[in-house]
Amino acid sequence: MSELLKFFQPRSAGLEFIVGGIPSVTPEMVAAACHGLTRQVYLYALVKFALDGRSANELYRVNRDAVAHMARVKRWAEQEGFSLECIVRAGDIALRESLVCRHCGHCGGAGVHNNQRQCKACGGNGRAKPVPNDALARYAGVTSKQWGMLYSDKFEALKVEYAGFDDLIARKIRKSIFGESDG
Ligand SMILES: [Zn+2]
Repeated sequence: MSELLKFFQPRSAGLEFIVGGIPSVTPEMVAAACHGLTRQVYLYALVKFALDGRSANELYRVNRDAVAHMARVKRWAEQEGFSLECIVRAGDIALRESLVCRHCGHCGGAGVHNNQRQCKACGGNGRAKPVPNDALARYAGVTSKQWGMLYSDKFEALKVEYAGFDDLIARKIRKSIFGESDG
């Protein structure tokens, strides 16, 4: 099943997946539904839900500009020792994590095992364990201590931002395909 179809399962998006009479969601529909969004969100929708790998480079490029802009607007850059270059690298990882939605290796993302007991490895949310802070710090090019002090909260804020993209895109697609209101 594609990421897109998974996304439209009732469990994740609160949408009954109606079969019969409703066309399945295609990349063209994703593109058409999302064309009015910002370039960043549009590209995110194409890469994540229309599996358009050719747009990935542009998405990362646009995302780096957006992260740097966010750092200025939110005044992150005014913190002592804060590096724009490091938050931009952290933004790459936050974006990648949001794009791939890694599933728990124990239950395959179901959150339960065949015996219907909740999966202990993921606590039932079906997601893979987050990347450890040490690894995030290394990738961003800072020490673990610096990561904890200056970057981990921004990293989380970026992931929340991308989760907001998911919601916005889902609304647009539901509206365009199923005629639901955009509210
Ligand atoms: Zn699990």
